[in-house]
Amino acid sequence: MDKYEVDCLIIGGGVAGLAAAKFLSQEFDKTYLIERNNFLGMETSSRNSEVIHAGIYYKKNSLKSKLCLKGKHMLYEYLTEKNIDFNNCGKYIVATNQEESDSLEAIRLNAVECGLEDLTYEPNLKRLYPFLNVKNSIFSPSSGIFDSHEYFKALEKDFCDNKGTVLLGNECLEIEEANDRFEVKIKDLNNDLIYILQTKYLINAAGIFSAEIAKFIDKTRQFDIQYIKGEYYSYSGKEQINHLIYPVPGKLSLGLHATLDLGRGIKFGPSAVETKKLDYKVEEENKKDFLKSLQHYWPSIQANNLSPDYSGIRAKVRGSEDFNIEKLDCKNKIAINIIGYISPGLTSSLALGEKIIDLVKS
Ligand SMILES: Cc1cc2nc3c(=O)[nH]c(=O)nc-3n(C[C@H](O)[C@H](O)[C@H](O)COP(=O)(O)OP(=O)(O)OC[C@H]3O[C@@H](n4cnc5c(N)ncnc54)[C@H](O)[C@@H]3O)c2cc1C
Repeated sequence: MDKYEVDCLIIGGGVAGLAAAKFLSQEFDKTYLIERNNFLGMETSSRNSEVIHAGIYYKKNSLKSKLCLKGKHMLYEYLTEKNIDFNNCGKYIVATNQEESDSLEAIRLNAVECGLEDLTYEPNLKRLYPFLNVKNSIFSPSSGIFDSHEYFKALEKDFCDNKGTVLLGNECLEIEEANDRFEVKIKDLNNDLIYILQTKYLINAAGIFSAEIAKFIDKTRQFDIQYIKGEYYSYSGKEQINHLIYPVPGKLSLGLHATLDLGRGIKFGPSAVETKKLDYKVEEENKKDFLKSLQHYWPSIQANNLSPDYSGIRAKVRGSEDFNIEKLDCKNKIAINIIGYISPGLTSSLALGEKIIDLVKS
């Protein structure tokens, strides 16, 4: 089997792998990224809300909080610099009754504790959106939406401009340790060829499969992964919004929100249902519950206003609310596992890239 030596190898061409690749290629001469699909960013990175999160809900000093707050600023700057479309439209979190209004205050206080001081109360949201069922609301001015696909292209370009190499249609099959190198067995799916890349630095950014790759690196590792599917429906009713509208969050997710795309279309989602099946089909049998959750804050919506759109899957380490980013020092070589990288992973991505560089250098 042919063997080739590289300096640094990234497994996975979603937003985490691409952001890591952009930064790592500034440090290493021969940086390679493998992606088993024939295009980049086709899995979780294109199955989400494309929202730039403000950093409201996450626990103070958690990685989610730190990377989201920093990543948001880095992302807005990067999008501006690269001329990539975004809309800093802001978002309302709406409470429909007293109990939810009390939760709004807890949400605001948490945000302030994390250093996000720009949330304001808006008790008169009904003037703007009379069709919403709203008792009180909070406005977040730094939330927004963006064109994530153009963002991925820009990250790839930065990587390639730094002499990084992307290998599409290449799947990691196995990882072995050989003294001070990892030997990564790879299948080139388009040419039916198997070969080995040897590397001292290995980044596992395989998204919902990263716990499996972590097990390739260290056969003794076990992660209890909880898969939570989120479905989206597109909206075709007459009422329109110019902001993101979020309910008070639930246990498993931020709740079924109304989000805009850059063409002003409205979609609702994602739902949050634990699953063992890793498929992306939108199950129409869930539509009734989906509609009921929306009608809680947007009562006029009817079933015929909603068409099944797409879904995404969150792979969360059971019991952990944070991103799990771990560095393994293995006899003069380093592996970094990016596990449980769920929302706000798009927003946090540039800060994640910087963090990975820090981990590699430290
Ligand atoms: C429903 C939902 C809504 C979300 N909404 C938002 C949002 O609005 N804002 C926000 O900031 N974040 C959001 N997120 C989070 C964000 O989408 C994720 O954090 C991010 O996309 C994860 O990126 P990733 O690179 O880790 O994973 P992925 O995008 O899945 O990339 C992993 C890549 O690894 C590849 N791969 C896997 N195994 C192998 C292998 N063996 N060999 C080679 N390649 C392999 C896969 O093909 C894939 O392309 C949302 C997530 C979900 C699920």
